[in-house]
Amino acid sequence: MLAVQGDFAEHQAALERIGQKSVQVRLPRDLESLDGLIIPGGESTTFAKLMDFYDLRGPITAFAQKGAAVWGTCAGLIMMARELTEPKPTPMGLMDIAVERNAFGRQVDSFEADLSVTGLGADPLRAIFIRAPAICNVGPEVEVLAALPDGRAVAVRQGNLLATSFHPELGGDGRMHRYFLDMAAPEGMR
Ligand code: GLN
Repeated sequence: MLAVQGDFAEHQAALERIGQKSVQVRLPRDLESLDGLIIPGGESTTFAKLMDFYDLRGPITAFAQKGAAVWGTCAGLIMMARELTEPKPTPMGLMDIAVERNAFGRQVDSFEADLSVTGLGADPLRAIFIRAPAICNVGPEVEVLAALPDGRAVAVRQGNLLATSFHPELGGDGRMHRYFLDMAAPEGMR
């Protein structure tokens, strides 16, 4: 769990509810021996500053490139993008997606929606969007797992990389975290 900023404690609680221990990553060396990393929601401009300050961009990129699973939620998704529709902050460019920050408006425009998500079974997921980003463009290797009724993608996967615009760590449904654990260490290898 990247724990420099944002709602990492809520993600850790969500993992704990499904029986998974997690550790906090603040420095590059904390990534050693991990199978996966979650970049939580928060404020992407602050993430960008802290990732530079702690020299985390290169090590997280190398971690993803060696095949470890990385999941960004909300501000974390913004940081994983190839490009943003605005010049700042500078994302890490891990996934072939273009992203618009605050695409649904301000804090008061936060909302919830029932989403059908590929890989989570038939029941819809109650997704919580808080000043959420939208994915406005996806590359050929990116699979859209969920979209809003207007067609905008809000959950995407590219191999070992996962990104969601919403906050699965809030609301108590553990399926998205379980999905990520399967990416990080497929069942049978745990
Ligand atoms: N609006 C925030 C940003 O642009 C993201 C909000 C969130 O992570 N809930 O970074």
